[in-house]
Amino acid sequence: MKANKTKSGSHNTHARYSASGADTWVPCTKSVSFVEKLRAEGLVPQRSMAGDAARIGTLAHDYAQFLLETELDRDPKFMAMPDELVDDTLALRGYVDRCLDTVGENDVVIVEHKAYLFYLPTETGTSDWVTIHRNKKGKVKGLTVRDLKWGQGPYTMKLRSYNNRQLAIYSLSTIHDLVRDGDMKMDYNLPIIMELDKPRVSGDAGTWELTLGELVEFCDHIRESSDIIKADKETKFAPSTDACYFCNGRTHCPAKAATPLVFVPADMDMKPVSLEACVQLYLMIPQLKDVMKVATDRLMEHQESTGKAPEGTKLVPGATRRAYMSPEVAIDFFEDKGLSEDDYLKPPAPRALIPMGQMEKVFRGDDKKDFQDILTKNQSPPKLVADSDPRPDALTNLDELFDL
Ligand code: SF4
Repeated sequence: MKANKTKSGSHNTHARYSASGADTWVPCTKSVSFVEKLRAEGLVPQRSMAGDAARIGTLAHDYAQFLLETELDRDPKFMAMPDELVDDTLALRGYVDRCLDTVGENDVVIVEHKAYLFYLPTETGTSDWVTIHRNKKGKVKGLTVRDLKWGQGPYTMKLRSYNNRQLAIYSLSTIHDLVRDGDMKMDYNLPIIMELDKPRVSGDAGTWELTLGELVEFCDHIRESSDIIKADKETKFAPSTDACYFCNGRTHCPAKAATPLVFVPADMDMKPVSLEACVQLYLMIPQLKDVMKVATDRLMEHQESTGKAPEGTKLVPGATRRAYMSPEVAIDFFEDKGLSEDDYLKPPAPRALIPMGQMEKVFRGDDKKDFQDILTKNQSPPKLVADSDPRPDALTNLDELFDL
């Protein structure tokens, strides 16, 4: 492994409206000036109070950086393992290994890269890990950007890599930096892989893979919100569970107060709720599912008859699902590539094929391209989602959608 590029810094930065707060200020452009006003009035602290969890998260990032730079022979300044992390040694090691696993022979890596934010170039955000994939001649052929999430709470649990604004901001900002420094060219076909790593939360956050062109397109709505905030006009309150969850102005916000039904907190404390009430709620799950289905059907009918999504919702294309063409084709392919059964079958009997997302990581270069040829892609039906969903509302007519 060759990994010799050093360009690092502390990840702990505070932009006026940061990548980590993007789920608040992108949909609710009013939140930035509103919180600044509350701060000026002394109604909220000047800076978010970093609690113990945030402090330990910073320690974990710093120690992970030390471990990674040690593995990369970069001779970092020694850091003893903080006592707060002793119980999570294995989790930290898992993160380190998964980062190192992304590095091929000609690749270059950057640890804790502080990049100028693409939407606010006077301020910076930090990518925890970037692998710059290169061919033998040093030409950049893709990037993997990884972000460590040390939390264990309900917010971290529900985080996914797909459509993650923070990851997108770190990735595009880092790419702008690399292009500016002459380390790569702005090739819009370049594959970008983004991964959240939540080592203390069971379950995989998944991988979000797209081309640089698609990433730029995804980031348009982030840039638009930033432009509105910078111009300091036409900002709007846009309350929603996700936007208000971490907003520092939430306890003083008139818009949030006016829409109480939106706010079922993801981490609602159920301890004070009686056991009997919990049982009642639990038994209602099938009915609630039915109610949600009826509501969704009715909204879809409205869409079909009017050609427009009901206000507050929009239609997005269904996910593209990939599958092996057939088990036989997949097995032939793996055998051709010199893999044994233990490499491509799950251990317990009856042995099934290892999912393609995992197998894909085994291959590089042309082998990876060949691997794509044994997969099929199916488009799921379009989906009605909330307006605040980051996916573009490119299609508003059902006929067009079904013609896809
Ligand atoms: S509480 Fe919600 S609606 Fe109010 S400013 Fe914050 S994000 Fe916007």
